[in-house]
Formats: sequence, C-alpha cells, structure tokens
Amino acid sequence: MDDIKGLVFLVVNGSFVDGHGIRTTVFLKGCPLQCIWCCNPEGQAFHPELKLTSAKCDGCGKCVAKCRTGAIQIYSGQEDAKVQVDRQLCTNCGECIAACYTGALDCFGKYYTVEELFNVVKKDEQFYRSSGGGVTIGGGEATWQPEFTLQFIKKCKENYIHTALDTCGYVTVPEGIKALEEADLLLFDLKGMDVEQHVKSTGVSNEPILENLKKVDALGKPIIIRLPVIPGYTDSATSLKHTASSFAHISLQRSTLRAATTTLAPASAKAVAICAPRPTDPPVTTAVLPFNANISITCMFFTVL
Ligand code: SF4
Ligand code: SF4
Repeated sequence: MDDIKGLVFLVVNGSFVDGHGIRTTVFLKGCPLQCIWCCNPEGQAFHPELKLTSAKCDGCGKCVAKCRTGAIQIYSGQEDAKVQVDRQLCTNCGECIAACYTGALDCFGKYYTVEELFNVVKKDEQFYRSSGGGVTIGGGEATWQPEFTLQFIKKCKENYIHTALDTCGYVTVPEGIKALEEADLLLFDLKGMDVEQHVKSTGVSNEPILENLKKVDALGKPIIIRLPVIPGYTDSATSLKHTASSFAHISLQRSTLRAATTTLAPASAKAVAICAPRPTDPPVTTAVLPFNANISITCMFFTVL
C-alpha cells in the first residue's frame, strides 16, 4: 500500500461544510471537469504546479537566477507583484522554490502515501468523535486517483473514522466506482441536468454522472446532492424545475438550493430555496419541503465574473 501515492493540494482542518460534524477535508489534485465557475482551479491539473503568493515576495530575484527556462522574471508593473511567472515557459520543476526564503513560492500539490495522509487527518480524531464528524475527500475529483482514494477511505474506516467523498460523479473506472461505494457518505455535486449546457459549462456530458448517481442511490447510500446555482447558467426556473423533476425519480429526502437573490422562488414544490447574496451571507429566505428517503441536496452559490 505504501507504493500508492496520492497528489494532495490542500488539507483543511475544522470544516463544517463538507458533511456532518467537524471534519478534515483533503483535496486531491486533478479533475476531469473544467467548470467555468470552478472555485478550486489549482485543483484541476493532475500534476504539481508552482504557486506564487505575491504578497510574500520582496523582489530579491533569487528565484530568477534559479530558473533555467526563464519562466520567472522581476516585474515592476504592479505594486504587489514583484515577480511574474510565464506559465507557458514554466515546467513546474520547483527549483525556484528552494531559493525563496520568504515562502512566496510554493507548490500546489504534494504526494502522500496512504499512511502519511492518514497520520495527518488522525490528529483531529477527538474532534470527529465528539462532533459526529470525520474525514472528507474532495478535490479536484478524488476518484480520478482511484486506488489511493479507495485505500485511504478503507484506512480511515478501519480506524473507525467516518468518511465522506465529495464527487462530481464523473467516474469512469471500476476502482473509482468502488471508492464511491466504500465511502460512508457521498457529497454528490450536480452541475445541471441539460446535457448541452453541461458540456458547455464543464467540458463533459452529464450522462455518466447521472448514471453513477442512480447506481449509488440503488445501494441505499447516504447522499447529499450539491447544486451550484450559477447566475446565467444553472439558475433559470426551467433549469431548476428540470433538476427537481429529475430528482423525483430517485429517493430524495430534501433539496436545498442557495440562490443569488432574495427574489428567486423555490424551483418546484419539491425544492428548498435558501436565498442569500453571497455564500458567506446568512440565508434570508428559507423554504423547506421534504422528500422521502435518504438523499438531501445542498447548494453552493458562486458569482461568474
Ligand atoms: S518551477 Fe521551474 S520552470 Fe517554473 S519558474 Fe520555477 S524554476 Fe522556473
Ligand atoms: S525568491 Fe521569493 S521573495 Fe525573492 S523574488 Fe523570488 S519569489 Fe520573490
């Protein structure tokens, strides 16, 4: 098992939004979708990438001397950016990182064995136990590192730590499906029901996603469906009604949508609308209409600029 390594770009302790209770969320790098509203674009590529935090840079230029491709250069055009990286030239070799003593340069993506990552999440075990929480594996799309994700979930479960897998549902290999089956809870992100619109917004068809949702629903697995309500993309009444009527065929328990304005009405008699201007704002309107089984829907709202 030590041979299997997973590429992780972020570990968040004390999360309350990725499942029940207090959780540690690990974000695996690489995603088959390219959502135009992606809130973790640094998680899309399947390889480590150079990260530059301009605010930490003092313009010393030591990184420039280290770069063999000329990808990093001193920059004077903007007050808070003293260097700039040409992503076309950067090979993500990481050699400049060691030269940067301020920590302005770092790497998105670090390889962990299952044991190493488990030792990281285990530190918060007492919080999981006292709150009914656990570990959430998100991304990127964790099932695209299928063997690592499956073994990591098994390792947590062997140690009685609850596991949630946050998935876009675009899972195409048997090991990835096994990871969905193995997790205690699925946070299933749906980006819309219309195939054409889905391809335009994410780069892939939603057909395999909906097929996989049916498969995991048939297992009776606890599932939370998360719907991004994106102005101009997934927030139309037609789109929301389509989504709600599609869920009528699976065993939904309740639906929660968070939308852009206080004027958006619940999409259908089966939907819940939590209306708030931004994700951080408290809901100002809530309507709850229950479904009848073991799936619930929550929703994220992003502004597409
Ligand atoms: S990661 Fe490598 S190629 Fe990219 S800027 Fe740094 S030294 Fe240059
Ligand atoms: S080495 Fe670090 S602090 Fe110095 S110029 Fe490069 S990024 Fe900035």
